[in-house]
Amino acid sequence: MSVLEQLNQLRSEAEGEIVKASSQQEIDELWVRFFGRKAGELTTILRGVKDVPAEERPSVGKLANEVKAQIEELFKIQKERIYQDSLNERLASEKIDVTLPGVWNKPGRIHLLNATMRRIKEVFKGLGYSVVSGPEVETDYYNFEALNIPANHPSREMWDSFFLREGLLMRSQTSSNQIHVMEKQDPPVRIISPGKCYRRDSVDATHFWEFHQIEGLLVDEKVTFSDLKGTLELFAKGMFGSRRKTRFNPSYFPFTEPSAEVMVDCFVCEGKGCRVCKNSGWIEIMGSGMVHPHVLRNVGYDPEKYTGFAFGMGVERVAMLTYALDDIRVLFENDQRFLDQF
Ligand SMILES: [Zn+2]
Repeated sequence: MSVLEQLNQLRSEAEGEIVKASSQQEIDELWVRFFGRKAGELTTILRGVKDVPAEERPSVGKLANEVKAQIEELFKIQKERIYQDSLNERLASEKIDVTLPGVWNKPGRIHLLNATMRRIKEVFKGLGYSVVSGPEVETDYYNFEALNIPANHPSREMWDSFFLREGLLMRSQTSSNQIHVMEKQDPPVRIISPGKCYRRDSVDATHFWEFHQIEGLLVDEKVTFSDLKGTLELFAKGMFGSRRKTRFNPSYFPFTEPSAEVMVDCFVCEGKGCRVCKNSGWIEIMGSGMVHPHVLRNVGYDPEKYTGFAFGMGVERVAMLTYALDDIRVLFENDQRFLDQF
């Protein structure tokens, strides 16, 4: 094949191949194939021009330069095309539609129980009470004995408990904390103690085996039942509204004497009678009473000198009343659809 023929063939090969290159790497490989310093096809042909007979050399040289320039031009065009293609591809893939709605990250919120607990705490903090916590696993002594509930006392059934090994149990009431506090300090004592309690209750709309209580205790000289009434009246107004009225009904707890359950007039129907107050116009919100002298003696306080009152309420019950819930279980299921309503 003459050099002229070789040049023409190379040109048509280059025309066919270069346009097919679709990446920078392919185009680089082709460049080496045609222009490579050692074995490039065009380089090899050009090297042979010197062996062409002298009279043909000018026309061969001219064609060689033409072909070289044409192939270089083809490379240039194809490189530009590859660059544009990759740019367009990137632009298409990175396109941002600013009209799309944003992604909404739902903010967290305070659970109804915690919100209720906080409100109760705030009211008592405003009355000068401090907040203390105690152990959830208790000994029989703190959970019962020291609270004037000796073994075989029938009222132990009021607190059907989860017993652990070696005489320990999951506390069935936060009242056990009263004892811890009074053992550690002398009067005056003015505390509330919020926390979890556990009882072996069958689960239904108003019972759950785990629940929260807030216990309160005040002991000092000359504390009377009217201090109890005044304090809990203030609490009821602070918690349920300044127009609330309270009523104290006689009740029984082993660790208080006398004992009273605290009622507020129904804040749902304003006392007219509704489903929440079972048409009585009154809602029971907590138990209370004057600390039993036995309890004071158990912690080394002199009942002749010191008196006090205690009260305790179920946080779930207060939350259910506040948010008009009729099933305690919704407070523990953590169903987002339910919680979102508040
Ligand atoms: Zn009512």
